[in-house]
Amino acid sequence: PSRHQVLIVGGGTAGITVAARLRRAGVTDIALLEPSETHWYQPLWTLVGGGQAPLRSSLRTEAELIPPGVRWLRERATGVDPVARTVTTASGRVLSYGRLVLAPGLHLDWDGVPGLAAALGHGGVSSNYRPDLAPLTWDLIRRTRRGTALFTMPSGPVKCGGAPQKIAYLAADYWRKRGVLGDIRTILVLPEPAMFKVPVFSRALTETARRYGIEVRLSSEMTRLDGAAREAVITDHTTGATETVRYDLLHAVPPQRAPEWLANGPLADPDSPQGYVKADRETLQHPDFPTVFALGDVAALPTSKTGAAVRKQAPVVVANLLASLRGRPATARYDGYTSCPLVTARHKMLLAEFDYDLRPAPSFPFLDTTRERTDMWFLKRYGLPQLYFKGMLKGLA
Ligand code: FAD
Repeated sequence: PSRHQVLIVGGGTAGITVAARLRRAGVTDIALLEPSETHWYQPLWTLVGGGQAPLRSSLRTEAELIPPGVRWLRERATGVDPVARTVTTASGRVLSYGRLVLAPGLHLDWDGVPGLAAALGHGGVSSNYRPDLAPLTWDLIRRTRRGTALFTMPSGPVKCGGAPQKIAYLAADYWRKRGVLGDIRTILVLPEPAMFKVPVFSRALTETARRYGIEVRLSSEMTRLDGAAREAVITDHTTGATETVRYDLLHAVPPQRAPEWLANGPLADPDSPQGYVKADRETLQHPDFPTVFALGDVAALPTSKTGAAVRKQAPVVVANLLASLRGRPATARYDGYTSCPLVTARHKMLLAEFDYDLRPAPSFPFLDTTRERTDMWFLKRYGLPQLYFKGMLKGLA
């Protein structure tokens, strides 16, 4: 098999960032497995669905982002053998590695809710979790003048836990501006007993939902969908009661889990019901196979899955991988930092930043981001995409 000192699986947020940082640190033999020609900056999809950004602003080609000097293998990984230190690809190629970085993201399980896959993309059903459908979300929001709008979030970890509710606020704010909010019944279905994990933000979001007159169903989940009848079944997990809601617009977020080839393999964390990859929560190294590192959405870390988290994880993975190449112990530590920009209106945002212990970890300690702010909305729309493409993916920020 062909051998590389470092093999990275996935050229998304995490894979490109790690590749760029390893190149800057002088590593020369890096291969990147990535089947797709396109790279997406997914945080913009919420604004695409809310009519605030064009889809193309979230898109780049992999070719322009993969750092020079990194060998791009345009293929999908299908298996890994951490004892033999090999990765198998869809074409049957076997690649051997010195160190492996797992960053293939997560799998959107559209079949996880009966009826969802069939209903998606027509009959009033959309999802910002698919780039081709994010523009449809905006179309539906714009056309809705009355009726029932349903926004759902599944149980289990999802990427960007705020995204399922942000789009509800963008929609409601638009309807308010158009003077039709009072004619639309808006229901937001959330799986947890609170609107957000961190109490101060939970309180702020409760107030946001109240302001728009949104009915919030906590500890609840969409468990079935009949696209032809436009009916969704909502199950309340505390009582077991079910309710059938007839909707005119449905924004659905699918259940999410680790890619199958990893979930069923030796690197999966047995404590992760979705089969995410085991990694030490501080060093991001696999505890049983120290030549393997995992970060981003695929890693079984007890924090929220976001690009902002990846930004703090990547330098830790790179430092510990370099140490390991030199035969030294892993000493860099990740504290669980993650952030969620909670868009609450067309030009307003809260910025939730916290660590493993849900302690606040503000990037702007001089600003109160627990309150809705216009500057934070501009940061999300214009500042963060720049930081992402010009700083983070270049290994600079
Ligand atoms: P990804 O960026 O998804 O990249 C995975 C890559 O691996 C892809 O390029 C894929 O093609 C490739 N791949 C998959 N399978 C294989 C395989 N078998 N072999 C090789 N390559 C493979 N984050 C924020 O920080 N702030 C936000 O506001 C925010 N909003 C979001 C809104 C939405 C609607 C969505 C969907 C996400 C949002 N996120 C946000 C989350 C953020 O986009 C992800 O957490 C981040 O992209 C994770 O990076 P990753 O590298 O782990 O995965």
